[in-house]
Amino acid sequence: MAFALRGVTAKASGRTAGARSSGRTLTVRVQAYGMKAEYIWADGNEGKPEKGMIFNEMRSKTKCFEAPLGLDASEYPDWSFDGSSTGQAEGNNSDCILRPVRVVTDPIRGAPHVLVMCEVFAPDGKPHSTNTRAKLREIIDDKVTAEDCWYGFEQEYTMLAKTSGHIYGWPAGGFPAPQGPFYCGVGAESAFGRPLAEAHMEACMKAGLVISGINAEVMPGQWEYQIGPVGPLALGDEVMLSRWLLHRLGEDFGIVSTFNPKPVRTGDWNGTGAHTNFSTKGMRVPGGMKVIEEAVEKLSKTHIEHITQYGIGNEARLTGKHETCDINTFKHGVADRGSSIRIPLPVMLKGYGYLEDRRPAANVDPYTVARLLIKTVLKG
Ligand code: ADP
Ligand code: MN
Ligand code: MN
Ligand code: MN
Ligand code: MN
Repeated sequence: MAFALRGVTAKASGRTAGARSSGRTLTVRVQAYGMKAEYIWADGNEGKPEKGMIFNEMRSKTKCFEAPLGLDASEYPDWSFDGSSTGQAEGNNSDCILRPVRVVTDPIRGAPHVLVMCEVFAPDGKPHSTNTRAKLREIIDDKVTAEDCWYGFEQEYTMLAKTSGHIYGWPAGGFPAPQGPFYCGVGAESAFGRPLAEAHMEACMKAGLVISGINAEVMPGQWEYQIGPVGPLALGDEVMLSRWLLHRLGEDFGIVSTFNPKPVRTGDWNGTGAHTNFSTKGMRVPGGMKVIEEAVEKLSKTHIEHITQYGIGNEARLTGKHETCDINTFKHGVADRGSSIRIPLPVMLKGYGYLEDRRPAANVDPYTVARLLIKTVLKG
């Protein structure tokens, strides 16, 4: 099938009118107040550690429409951007295509304005090499759909003060008290940056994302929110949209959020991960423990394939300390936070439920984690 750009399906409602200005007659378009759509995509820097550590990979630009279009992504036209400025194209053939795939209400601008998650296509109409969502789409056949995979993604992040680049709330030029009181802590001495974490949760809920909670993390200035349980494509889209919201709100708070897997590399400080909880239909019914055990067995055989795609810089985080398993070892266990795959205690007690893949780093591509779990567990 030939590649065709998707066009605007909404009816244009602009009028034209003559206007006099400095002796010349100009034709201007009089536009009723319409809708702002923020087209959002991931850039090409994820694969480049020197960029991926410091800058986030989210990009966006605003498209104005004369009338609101609603929340159906197929109603939205394709758009293009300069891929040579995002690490996605060479300067001499630089146009990349944005194709809307998921639309939610923009919680910052308010309804009817929207956020539009997009896939990126190359000029030849094929999915761009950075379009990991397309790779996930391709692996979801009828058999996978029938298994009704659920994901719960624990997105950890670390706040940095915009002006200094220092961990948010840490004393200038120094360190806070040793880790211990901060995880799920409360009080000005324990919780640094809660106003942003709260505003972010509120924004995710207003956007209609399936956010299931937040908590202060082990290292002060580090936080977590959870997306899920949702299906594979929704997982990727909602994690990307929630990341965009976090960075966007950070502009207002003067706080940079980083997904660097190990933001503080000297001393006794936890890294930043993205535990991915996963279940298939068979795991969620009585007798499911057997299905979970079979999945763990398969995961033990594809450790290297997963670990090489679970986030740049993850080797600094997966040391075997700080509630991680060493990157070169595959271990599983019930309630074991030093394992690669953990079976939560309530799941063990009930005899069915889900497993937790503790290996992904905070900067992992959520579409890639979703795809690899399907590939190993359902296709392995
Ligand atoms: P932890 O105890 O590791 O900190 P959290 O409570 O932070 O766990 O996160 C658990 C995540 O798992 C939540 O996002 C939750 O929605 C999700 N979850 C719960 N049940 C399932 C399931 N059956 N399949 C997949 N994910 C699930
Ligand atoms: Mn331009
Ligand atoms: Mn958690
Ligand atoms: Mn956590
Ligand atoms: Mn966890």
